[in-house]
Amino acid sequence: MSLSPAQVFTALNAVRPPEQASPVLGKAVVVGGSVAGLLAARVLSDYADSVVIIERDDPQVTGERPGVPQGTQLHALLPGGFLQLERLFPGFREEAVAQGAVGAPPPARRTYLDGRLKVVVPDDADSLAGSRPLLEGLIRQQVLRLPNVKTVAARATGLVFDGAAVTGVRCDVDGLPGAESADLVVDAMGRSSRLSDWLEHAGWERPTTRRMTVHLNYATALFRRTEANPALTVVMALLSPKMSPDVAGAAFFAIEDGRWMAMMAGYGDHRPGRTADDFVRRLREQFPPEFGDLAGNEMLGDVRTYAHADSRRRDFHAVRRFPAGLVSVGDAVASFNPVYGQGMTAAALHAACLSTYLRSKPDLSVPARAYLDLQKVVVDAAWSISTSADLALPHVDGPYPRGYRLSSWASRQIVAATVSDVEVARRFNDVVSMREHPRSLATPGLLLAALRANRRARR
Ligand SMILES: Cc1cc2nc3c(=O)[nH]c(=O)nc-3n(C[C@H](O)[C@H](O)[C@H](O)COP(=O)(O)OP(=O)(O)OC[C@H]3O[C@@H](n4cnc5c(N)ncnc54)[C@H](O)[C@@H]3O)c2cc1C
Repeated sequence: MSLSPAQVFTALNAVRPPEQASPVLGKAVVVGGSVAGLLAARVLSDYADSVVIIERDDPQVTGERPGVPQGTQLHALLPGGFLQLERLFPGFREEAVAQGAVGAPPPARRTYLDGRLKVVVPDDADSLAGSRPLLEGLIRQQVLRLPNVKTVAARATGLVFDGAAVTGVRCDVDGLPGAESADLVVDAMGRSSRLSDWLEHAGWERPTTRRMTVHLNYATALFRRTEANPALTVVMALLSPKMSPDVAGAAFFAIEDGRWMAMMAGYGDHRPGRTADDFVRRLREQFPPEFGDLAGNEMLGDVRTYAHADSRRRDFHAVRRFPAGLVSVGDAVASFNPVYGQGMTAAALHAACLSTYLRSKPDLSVPARAYLDLQKVVVDAAWSISTSADLALPHVDGPYPRGYRLSSWASRQIVAATVSDVEVARRFNDVVSMREHPRSLATPGLLLAALRANRRARR
């Protein structure tokens, strides 16, 4: 009997590395050494004799790097992603904190929705705050400690095929053409991955790319943090489209090296933070008092902005002809409106798909359909969370799924109830942090609880 998407999602969330390495392939090559590629490499280290990560950026560079331009912006590690990291790298939290990451357990997190303070779910999952380069650097350190993983500084330029299988990656090393042979190639080249072009040029089918245009404008700034151990380490103020069609929200996190990182996001012509004065003024005027207090600290450096045009997914699962020896992970498959903070957690779940697939000792001489089917469940879930919320924005014009009016009314009730009702908030948090499948919210019991909570709140 085949499992439902919700059951698959639950199983993926429970995936643990095998007790012992059990190689099913000789050499795996991962193209792209960012979060998704590194997590894939971690999983592959259990199932391959050797793993090579090809990354165009200099691996010695820590901190911001050109290959990950979004790295300057605030990145939330959802509790679901944090749980996965702890499983893949036991002791991750301790080591992260020792290197400057800041604990973000439920009592240290505060969230406002449309200016109303949300209840804390006391037994919610733990998480961590830190800059994106810190989090990625921590993952890289852990992966490169594995004896069978190495990084090659090179730019991948194409695939090597042998009949119906991918057997390697072509790359430029210091301007000289070369190639890495592989039994399995993993595309982790991010949102701008060239894999579709490479497949098409080699006569294969190009996967359909689906987009939802969001025109999101991000701005992030750093402030000096004087408290060594602040009571609140993650503060978020979210605005629903009904309340504000163009300001998405703001957040600030305690991060390494005694700093706060603050972010503001807007849609369309709303471009927050073009200057430092504008950033500070908006923090003071548009958000709850904690943001005004933050704005009183010294700003460190400039405001960094980032424009994100669309959420997009490439439907590899739907192509009829796909070569053997090839899979994709992370943003290369699907990247979402970053306001929901899903990217790194989705990448961790793709790694769980890879682990499940390789554990089944698959025949690698045929396309990895079983992997693509598992990954579709993760992409569908993340896509539905992100796009169903974005469809409520006035400037987003679809495509609307069937039953959208009813489902958007129900989700508005549930989201509103998360402000006052701990049980509804717990169930909602489990879904938005990608620990539970979105269908777990579609129960009459939860909707009734939400309606009752909203009625109580109105009184
Ligand atoms: C503004 C913004 C804010 C975000 N906020 C969050 C957040 O709060 N929480 C969250 O979880 N996610 C967030 N994300 C998403 C997150 O950044 C990504 O999901 C995450 O980085 C995983 O991406 P990835 O590893 O698939 O790709 P990327 O991080 O984009 O990395 C791709 C890698 O591939 C390399 N590469 C590309 N082409 C080649 C080539 N030809 N040869 C060799 N190497 C190559 C690049 O150098 C790079 O290292 C945000 C994204 C944006 C844009």
